[in-house]
Amino acid sequence: MSPSEELTEIFRTFPGVGPRQAKRFVYHLLTRPRAGVERIAALIKLLPSDMASCADCRRYFAKTGKSELCSICNSSHRDQTQLAVVCRDVDLEALEKSGTFKGRYFVLGGTVPILDETPEKRVRLTDLEKLVKHLAEKGLAEIILATNASPEGDHTADVVRKSLAVLSEKHDLKISTLGRGLSTGTEIEYADSDTIEHALKNRESK
Ligand SMILES: [Zn+2]
Repeated sequence: MSPSEELTEIFRTFPGVGPRQAKRFVYHLLTRPRAGVERIAALIKLLPSDMASCADCRRYFAKTGKSELCSICNSSHRDQTQLAVVCRDVDLEALEKSGTFKGRYFVLGGTVPILDETPEKRVRLTDLEKLVKHLAEKGLAEIILATNASPEGDHTADVVRKSLAVLSEKHDLKISTLGRGLSTGTEIEYADSDTIEHALKNRESK
């Protein structure tokens, strides 16, 4: 495989990028000045040392000091009684931007496709259980499953609910989902702040 073919294949694995777009990215790089392309390559190389995955919520954050925790998990101003479980970092950002959620987060790192038999390989169920155990001792009362309003989002929420069944019973934790003011097909990432606020206010528990 030539470098351009390999790069096209890599771009194809990016979220939302199809084969044609992947090729367009490669052609775009070819038209850029050499220094610009070298800068991109250098920045990609720096990324792993610049960002770290938070030891508690697993979101990626810019590493500044030695802390293993992100600014949200480190903050004493967050509501420790609520934990929102989201699929991706972009979902957390959308909730944060809406300014309506003041609790803690956990990023699953993906979704679980329907019929998938190894959900623990798709999402961070073990890390979530560890965090819930830890937060339960600090007064956690509710876990909000903030997944997209799609069949895969609903299925992911079901998987998480099952994996937390024993813990939630033991610590008397309420598990809720976002209210479906978030209409079917709505992705949290693209929802406006009003929609997110409405979905949070009207959350449902089974
Ligand atoms: Zn964190």
